[in-house]
Amino acid sequence: MAGPETLLEKAAAADAAQAAFESGRKPAPKAADVPPPSLYAARIKVQPKSVTGKYRTIKWAVLIFCLTLYYLAPWVRWDRGPDAPSQALLIDMGAPRAYLFGIEIWPQEVYFITGLLVMGSLGLFLVTALFGRLWCGYACPQTVWTDLFMLVERWIEGDRGARMRLDKAPMSVEKFTKRTAKHAAWLLIALATGGAWALYFNDAPTFVVEFFTGRATLVQYFFVGLFTTTTYVLAGWAREQVCTYMCPWPRFQAAMLDDQSMVVTYERWRGEKRGPHKAGTSWDGRGDCIDCGQCVAVCPTGIDIRDGLQLECIGCGLCIDSCNQIMDKVGRPRELITFDTEARQQARAKGGRAKWKIVRPRTLIYAGLLVLVGVVMLAALLLRTTVEVNVLRDRAPLFVTLSDGGVRNGYTLKVLNKRRESVDFLLGLKGMKDGHLLVQDVGEAGEGQSVILPVKPDKVATFRVFVTAPPDKERDERVEIEFVLTNPVRGEGDAYDAVFVGPHVRHHHDRD
Ligand code: SF4
Ligand code: SF4
Repeated sequence: MAGPETLLEKAAAADAAQAAFESGRKPAPKAADVPPPSLYAARIKVQPKSVTGKYRTIKWAVLIFCLTLYYLAPWVRWDRGPDAPSQALLIDMGAPRAYLFGIEIWPQEVYFITGLLVMGSLGLFLVTALFGRLWCGYACPQTVWTDLFMLVERWIEGDRGARMRLDKAPMSVEKFTKRTAKHAAWLLIALATGGAWALYFNDAPTFVVEFFTGRATLVQYFFVGLFTTTTYVLAGWAREQVCTYMCPWPRFQAAMLDDQSMVVTYERWRGEKRGPHKAGTSWDGRGDCIDCGQCVAVCPTGIDIRDGLQLECIGCGLCIDSCNQIMDKVGRPRELITFDTEARQQARAKGGRAKWKIVRPRTLIYAGLLVLVGVVMLAALLLRTTVEVNVLRDRAPLFVTLSDGGVRNGYTLKVLNKRRESVDFLLGLKGMKDGHLLVQDVGEAGEGQSVILPVKPDKVATFRVFVTAPPDKERDERVEIEFVLTNPVRGEGDAYDAVFVGPHVRHHHDRD
């Protein structure tokens, strides 16, 4: 990672070179006095210059897509019937339940969320192995919102040069007005972002009305405030520092890259020896880089890609756009800075050509794992039941001997009815002939060889169930039993293994 002194030097050199290039003068010589190394890295404010080109256009398209998706998704409605929320994407902390269009995820099924996160990680590994830091440069929320904040900043304060002049200028009415307008606009976007986050946890139309009429809860105001503040600080102030110092991803993504991954690189073999070039003079004996500093000026992380692949580079490709413009101007071939695999770049350096190997062990492994987790998730989703029973056996007392000699065990049954209709479940017992069931608080239907357990729509119900074994029946101390629950209307059900404990009942043919 570059130390502060190198960054300082680079920023100064880039600005001097840019000014010189723009005015047609030669660039100023680089500072010879390098300050002594310091352990503290003061931030050098990065003021990226605007640029146009292929990668910038893709970046705008991804930005518009991501922002539209984020702000509008909670407003999409999904009809689930009268008793259920009609929001397509909703995490209802009160229920608690997550709704994803036609899928409803209960807390017991949190593994679906885990599965989605695992799939997201594997997808990221695969994309990184193929295209390098595509995620960082284009789709990461930090990148998207920083880009949006920079756009607003450019509208209000002007491009790089104007902003740098404004930074240096003493406070004036103009500076104050521009600064105030910028921060106000940033705060508005941050509020919209924090507010939109809350919409994923609340019914969107209701929440917006409650929020602006002061009827939302304190917790809701707190979280909107929290996300507003983080958006404002991270996208407005911290920017590239989040990627360089806070995010762990750049640190371990190196493990996913190889010489077949697409990366942004300066083709040194073509660019060097660099230096200013006078129009009409020969290009012999020198490289194509005219040392104009444009690639540094547009870089959102303020680095010089000509120093090689760096941790700070988010792979956005804006330096490619800017250098291509310069190459067009000076009449040299484009792609001096290029987005390509290291293997192909090396082959070109030797005057040859190489193919991009998409299919290779690591991409196969990532893609294979992705498909595997996807199939498991899909199977789990298709096979998920709408009823579940869990049984807990009483420990104290282990059993009760009744006056007629019968033995009774107590159990607590939790029955989940995920259907949006009331169900009278049928509970039966396997593994104990003549076992008698008694359910508390269900009336007559709660007693017999099989009993009825009524459960309300979309609810978990708890039942106290007693199993009685008749007297004088041959029986071991522990009997394996099974509670079998069935929805008699739909034919679906669930079962739970349990044990029945009682004194050993001897019979004349017992050996001991
Ligand atoms: S690499 Fe391209 S943009 Fe960067 S200094 Fe050289 S010519 Fe200019
Ligand atoms: S070096 Fe180029 S690709 Fe990397 S962050 Fe800077 S502008 Fe983007």
